[in-house]
Amino acid sequence: MKNAQCKKCLNKFNEKDIYTIQQFQYRKEPPYAWTVEFFKNLEVDEWDSFCEKCIMNYSKNSFEIWKNDSKK
Ligand SMILES: [Zn+2]
Repeated sequence: MKNAQCKKCLNKFNEKDIYTIQQFQYRKEPPYAWTVEFFKNLEVDEWDSFCEKCIMNYSKNSFEIWKNDSKK
């Protein structure tokens, strides 16, 4: 049953395919504390559900912003 909803694109999908920003704990960069702060500004917390496509976009965008920030 597709009873989960992505907070970003609002598509419905299976609960077992839920992604949250908590999975970013496992990336080497940026640090997770930075990530949590970044998403707080987007009004996203660690319990919001996203589909795979949106979490991948978030992953890419946040990494690029962090990379640009750290150059300054
Ligand atoms: Zn989505």
